[in-house]
Amino acid sequence: MQIRDLGEFGLIERLNGMVTQGRRGPDNGAAHGFRLLVDTGDDTAAWAAAPATELFTTDTVVEGIHFTRETTPWQDLGWKSLASNISDIAAMGGLPLYALITLGLPPETEVSDIEDLYRGMLEIGEEYGVSIIGGDIVGSPVAFITVALTGVRSGPPMLRSSAQIGDQVAVTGYVGSSGGGLRLMLEGSEVPGESAVYLRNAHRRPWPAVAEGQTLSRAGVLTAMDVSDGLSDDLSKLCLASGVAARIFSGNVPMHPYLRQVFPDNCLDLALNGGEDYLLLFTASEEVMQKVIPALPDGAGVLGEICSGDPGQITLVGADGHETAMGRAGWDHFSQGCAR
Ligand SMILES: [Mg+2]
Repeated sequence: MQIRDLGEFGLIERLNGMVTQGRRGPDNGAAHGFRLLVDTGDDTAAWAAAPATELFTTDTVVEGIHFTRETTPWQDLGWKSLASNISDIAAMGGLPLYALITLGLPPETEVSDIEDLYRGMLEIGEEYGVSIIGGDIVGSPVAFITVALTGVRSGPPMLRSSAQIGDQVAVTGYVGSSGGGLRLMLEGSEVPGESAVYLRNAHRRPWPAVAEGQTLSRAGVLTAMDVSDGLSDDLSKLCLASGVAARIFSGNVPMHPYLRQVFPDNCLDLALNGGEDYLLLFTASEEVMQKVIPALPDGAGVLGEICSGDPGQITLVGADGHETAMGRAGWDHFSQGCAR
């Protein structure tokens, strides 16, 4: 059945049923003193808030620009479209709470595809304690999904703009795995075994670093952002916001053994420029780093340092000490040739 047969109201009713009956995960809101007063189905959602710092973010993905049906099945797309927002909440050291979902859909869209999309959102919502509490559906010549997500934390959030010269630069896990998985799928490479499964899953089902964000915050880290567009590009943004430059030591960039195995010649390029890893990039003093790195997952480690220089300038230092100025090679929404 296509959505033109079911109609807007029929589709909304079906999705409302899914989100209210499909909520099984932890309730982050209740755990932090928030209470949902009006659920999906009325003019707006409403909740009673607790004294806390509230966070609010949004992100849109458009078919043909941010995803294709060939590399991202609908259920994975649901997971990922919520994951990118959860990751932005994680970057502030917050817990995600409530989501609104806006869908733009061509009338010939299959209803079962949209149910799959919502299944993916419910799956990740269950893992991270996110409740979908409303949304909107509009007709559109291309499919797009906008997620708006609230979050909460006690105290001030971590920022991009507070990096200091002399800070070390670190990530909370291996970088480049998602980019490697995407490249495998785009090239249609038949790489057998565990390594390909790991890389494809890294791209299709990323796990935002909410727990890691809280760990960083508790350890006194003040400066963080999530890696969504690629390590070098995101570090450049962090440096620009802080008015500093940075050096990355190529030998210290954490890459999963499977990424090195499948892409022996371009794993570093994927680690620096592949996007959608959804882990956290952060800076702190050496003292804080020594305390926090052992509390983070495999792969977490220091890969560079903040230095003086043109704000946003990133320099890659090779194993032989040779220095290369990095171009902004990650995702730029308005440049050409990056569609994926
Ligand atoms: Mg972000």
